[in-house]
Amino acid sequence: MPELPEVETVVRGLAPLLVGRKVRKLEVLDPKLDLHPSRLPRNRMIRRVHRHGKEIIIDLSQRGKPQKPLWLCVHLRMTGKLIWTPPPSAPPERHLRARIALDRGDLLFVDARRFGTMRLMSDLAGAFPPGLDPLAPEFTPAALADLLEQSIQAIKPWLLRQDRLIGLGNIYASEILFAAKIPPTRPAGSLTPDEIRRLHRHTRHLLERAIKYCGTTFSDFRDERGRSGRFRRFLKVYGREDDPCRRCGRPVQRLVQQGRSTFCCPACQK
Ligand SMILES: [Zn+2]
Repeated sequence: MPELPEVETVVRGLAPLLVGRKVRKLEVLDPKLDLHPSRLPRNRMIRRVHRHGKEIIIDLSQRGKPQKPLWLCVHLRMTGKLIWTPPPSAPPERHLRARIALDRGDLLFVDARRFGTMRLMSDLAGAFPPGLDPLAPEFTPAALADLLEQSIQAIKPWLLRQDRLIGLGNIYASEILFAAKIPPTRPAGSLTPDEIRRLHRHTRHLLERAIKYCGTTFSDFRDERGRSGRFRRFLKVYGREDDPCRRCGRPVQRLVQQGRSTFCCPACQK
């Protein structure tokens, strides 16, 4: 499943290809999508491509009086991919769920397992989970301390809650706690100011590093296998049960918290 850095990479890759393009036609091939072509007026220009948590937001708002806001919001979930193809249109991809014909090229929504969503919204208020984006400027050690305050939930499942920090998934949650030397079972509200600073710093650092890394291999992004293979080199604990800790050499431990695997080094994360 794509995590925040992968989604950010998709956004950074697509933005220069899409911004300024005009929409010619929306074709919905999967009736499971809650999307009707008539809701997308022709010739709307793509103003901006950005991200809120793991939601990709394509701004089709029309300036002028009165302003007509419209956003195409895409969540990739398990297997979704947003792919821009240059003209002339390529033959249809397998698992194609929607195609947006642009004045130059096509934007394809391809999704084998069909859990992804594509929605047209004219109002974004309340559209997304209310959490803080860990890459936004508002994410500071003080803001993190406020969010953590009084929580008795273990820090690892706390990191996965989308109503506190948005966009962190299972892989990064384990990796961030290892980097910050915090045990995954510690109650979130019990972290010391120093631990909170480390948690903040490593959350940012890990996500930024992952984005930088994803960005350098963007051409491989469509290749699920190739991507995860390269990605694994960067993981210190995730998926490494019983392998030696890269810091102290003792075996990495796997535990289950709220039904999800957590990987940690009990010696380094005390
Ligand atoms: Zn260790």
